[in-house]
Amino acid sequence: MDLWIASHNSGKIKEFQNLLFEFPHVKTRASIEISAYTAPAETGGTYLENARIKAKSLRSVKNTDWILADDSGLEVEGLGGLPGIHSARYAGPNARDSENVAKLMKMMLIRNVPNRNAQFKACLVIISPDGQELIYEATMKGQIASKVAGVNGFGYDPIFVPEGQTKTLAELDPGFKNRHSHRALAFKQFLAYLKTIPTSI
Ligand code: IMP
Repeated sequence: MDLWIASHNSGKIKEFQNLLFEFPHVKTRASIEISAYTAPAETGGTYLENARIKAKSLRSVKNTDWILADDSGLEVEGLGGLPGIHSARYAGPNARDSENVAKLMKMMLIRNVPNRNAQFKACLVIISPDGQELIYEATMKGQIASKVAGVNGFGYDPIFVPEGQTKTLAELDPGFKNRHSHRALAFKQFLAYLKTIPTSI
């Protein structure tokens, strides 16, 4: 079966592919492969709305395969939940990961935020070939590190220390995210469902 991922984020795509190692019949494709396809504006007010916008948009050009869209973000308690759904664009519309990280660390400093509790959230919207919508959500709790560290992963990984750990996600082995990340926990719910349906679908 072909699973089309509505994302241009190579970090996310790689994480999904890693989690599919037990499902050789699932071939991942990504929206970036469709030259005529333009990703929609993420105009929703929630992760679910944005994930649905992305899923439906890709479904409109690929309506015979499975579609997977992920909307995710980092919520920092001491910043009132920011950057949240704006995580990818926190430092501006086309901001690089390093710029978003730098802005977040600057905000923590400027506002002298003592509460460094944070959580990653992921919402997946999956559309089956027959048009059924499946929704899976998950969270990973942790803390914002005092300094940027590590090279693995993407996004805010170099400043996020998961609960019970002393290193950032970017310092930890990528296997850690496969087991514990918001995205992995949400996707594994779908994989459990996938095991219950015929491989030919
Ligand atoms: P989206 O692609 O619009 O869902 O934006 C998600 C953004 O949230 C990413 O660009 C990252 O900035 C951040 N983010 C989501 N998940 C992760 C993660 O697993 N690690 C680090 N940053 C993440």
